[in-house]
Amino acid sequence: MISGHTNVAAVIGDPVRHSLSPALHNAAFAAAGLDWVYVAFPVAAGDAASAVAALRTLRLGGLSVTMPHKAAVVAGVDERSTAVEALGAANCLVPLPDGRVRAENTDGEGFLSGLRADAGLDVGGRHVAVLGAGGAARAVVQACAAAGAAGVTVVNRTADRAVAAAGLAGAVGRVGEPSDVATADLVVNATSVGMGADRSMPCDPALLHGGQVVVDLIYEPRETPWLAAARAAGIEAHNGLSMLIGQAAVAFRLWTGVEAPIEAMREAAENKSA
Ligand code: NAP
Repeated sequence: MISGHTNVAAVIGDPVRHSLSPALHNAAFAAAGLDWVYVAFPVAAGDAASAVAALRTLRLGGLSVTMPHKAAVVAGVDERSTAVEALGAANCLVPLPDGRVRAENTDGEGFLSGLRADAGLDVGGRHVAVLGAGGAARAVVQACAAAGAAGVTVVNRTADRAVAAAGLAGAVGRVGEPSDVATADLVVNATSVGMGADRSMPCDPALLHGGQVVVDLIYEPRETPWLAAARAAGIEAHNGLSMLIGQAAVAFRLWTGVEAPIEAMREAAENKSA
């Protein structure tokens, strides 16, 4: 029951009404028995600073941040995690007990925990190929390198963005060609190719082979043409739902101090996107 004591968390973005985050977090708050509620606030580009000020003024319990504000919110906070410093982007703001606000980027940790949940795979010592060099790709590249990947190869349409993303992996990062997909242990599609009604593929699925793990960060649709092609060839392939749940679970823990009820979040996400 919502009362004067209820904590309010929210997501800001534009567009944001389609977000799965309210379903995930409200299911998690209910399952954990917490007096919290999570809502979506459409915030126009250019208004990130006012939204961070509102977080402070309204004493919100936490704020998720999505496009187009992930970079802009960073300037308005008091503390930044290592991932935020590296990526220059945040997806989660955490109000601290002393009134300061800390920016976090939970996408990388969400990706790694999703990979463990889906494939039982740890990237330590593995070769990873990342297709794409946008915000999601950068988070994956940085997290894989930080988790001890032996190599992180970035393949992207726009060369200078590939160079910048590969740089996030330090000594193990490099820019590659689509053919490099064939030699990776883990292949991640972090482009938006295959999202929604787009039926195209981020790389030729003939480059994939058995023994690899394939992850498409897209979760709408649940099975992209590329995932379907990988599965049809008998290759282990997972969509982006576990990363979405993983990043939300880290935010939940940072805001509430309570471990997230992952199964409740997964059930809510699956019901919502089915
Ligand atoms: P973004 O910053 O806009 O980056 C988009 C990337 O896709 C860029 O590398 C871009 O290449 C590439 N791309 C777009 N159209 C292309 C095309 N026709 N051919 C080749 N490359 C193309 O987007 P983002 O935020 O990183 O998101 C990327 C995808 O990840 C989206 O589908 C999103 O839904 C998904 N995602 C999932 C999660 C999750 O939790 N599962 C979280 C975040 C994002 P250029 O650099 O050449 O433009």
